[in-house]
Amino acid sequence: MKKVQFRVGLGYDVHRFSRDRDLVVGGVKIPYEFGLLGHSDADCLLHAICDALLGAAGLGDIGRHFPDTDPAYKGISSLILLEKVVKLLHDEGWDIANIDSTIIAQSPRLAPYIDAMKKNISSVLGVDIGAVNIKATTTEGLGFEGKGEGIAAKAVALIFSN
Ligand SMILES: [Zn+2]
Repeated sequence: MKKVQFRVGLGYDVHRFSRDRDLVVGGVKIPYEFGLLGHSDADCLLHAICDALLGAAGLGDIGRHFPDTDPAYKGISSLILLEKVVKLLHDEGWDIANIDSTIIAQSPRLAPYIDAMKKNISSVLGVDIGAVNIKATTTEGLGFEGKGEGIAAKAVALIFSN
């Protein structure tokens, strides 16, 4: 009998705040005076999750697969990037067990949007909603997140061979 293989991966992403941009985190548009600056929709949580999944599968990182010099990805929803990452993993014979993640932002308050983020992410990953955990924290005013210069996100993913 073939032995099931497990792999873990880690993802980390940061985007700076900018005026005249929508704030999109976890595929949810959040009303706020700033958005995040980036080539795509700059969804730092989804980028961290993409990197965790790619890392677990030994497939490099998001910049390698979706370079920010490629006009095809300009303004693209990161839910589409996540969908492409999931396809890459499936093609390599990997299934996703679970995701845990933390969004680091002083403001806005993200708690009211976490259920909608979990719904978006679990449906793209094709896993139960309980397999996607999202936490939000501040840094008590310390560092770039605390000063309100941007948002960071960290994620870990566990995958297994199918
Ligand atoms: Zn990013």
